[in-house]
Amino acid sequence: MATDPTRMCEILVDLLDVRIKEVQGEHRGPLTIHFECRREIEGCPECGVLARVKDRHAVSLVDLPTNGRPTRIVWHKRRFFCPDFDCPKGSWSEVDTRIAFPRHLVTDRAGRWLTYQIGEHGRSVQEIAEELGCDWHTVNDTLLRYGEALIDDDSRFGLVAALGLDETLFVREGPYHRLRFSTSIVDVGSGQLLDVVPGRDSKASTDWVESRTCDWRFHVSYATLDLSGPYRKVFNEALPWATQIADPFHLIKLANQKLDECRRRVQNQLCQRASKTATRAHRNQPHMVDV
Ligand SMILES: [Zn+2]
Repeated sequence: MATDPTRMCEILVDLLDVRIKEVQGEHRGPLTIHFECRREIEGCPECGVLARVKDRHAVSLVDLPTNGRPTRIVWHKRRFFCPDFDCPKGSWSEVDTRIAFPRHLVTDRAGRWLTYQIGEHGRSVQEIAEELGCDWHTVNDTLLRYGEALIDDDSRFGLVAALGLDETLFVREGPYHRLRFSTSIVDVGSGQLLDVVPGRDSKASTDWVESRTCDWRFHVSYATLDLSGPYRKVFNEALPWATQIADPFHLIKLANQKLDECRRRVQNQLCQRASKTATRAHRNQPHMVDV
C-alpha cells in the first residue's frame, strides 16, 4: 500500500520507471502529465563510455483517456552525448519502447488499445479520435503501424487444411464509380479471414500462397473456390495437389442458371412449334368468299 502522494500519483499514471514532474488540467478538459525517466544513464552504444546528459526536449504523446478525459503525456527526454572525443557516435535521444516507439505520436499502450478497439470491436477511426482527443490521421497512422505488424506476423494463424478464395467488392472508386474488387483468403475449417489481397485476378493470390513456407502449403489438402477461372489457376499453379471444391452457393447458383436457360430454350422451341402449326393450319383453312 502506498501513502506517499508522489508514489500514489505514479501508480495512477501506471508508467514504469518514471518520475512525475507536473500535472495540468485540475478541473475539466484534457489532462496533461509531464514526466521524465528514472533509469540510470547507460554507456555509449558505440564505445561503452558512460554517457552524459546534453539537454532535454519535451515530446507530447497521446495516451489513454483518464476517467473519460483525453490525456497527453509529455516526456521530457534526455539527449545524451559521448564524452570521448574520438567516438563517432555524437548525440542521441533517450528511448524506452515500454512508453512509446521513436517518432510515434501515440503511447504504446494507447496504440495497442486503439488497434484492438477498431480491429476487434469494429469502432470507427473518427470515434476513437474523438475519445482520445486527437485528429483522425494520428489514429489512422497508428492503426496502420500496429495492424500491419499483426498481419505480417505469420504465426497469427497455424496450419490450414482447407483454403478458400472469394472475391469481394471493395470500393466504388472515382467519379465514374469504377468497381474495385479484392480477394479474401480464408481458412475454411475455422472461418478465419487470413488476408485480403487487391484484385480478383490470379497474380496477387498466387504470390500470397507462394510466399508461405513449404510445410504450410503442403498441409493444404482442399481448395475451395467460386468456379472462377483465375482462382482455379491459383490453385493449379500454387497448390496442384489440393482437391478443388466448388462452394455450394456458387454451384447451386450455376445449376439454377443452367436450368433456367434449358427451360427457356424448351419453352421457346415449343412456342415456335405451336406457332408454326397454327400458321400452317391457318393457311390450309378454305377461305370464305362472299357471293
Ligand atoms: Zn562513444
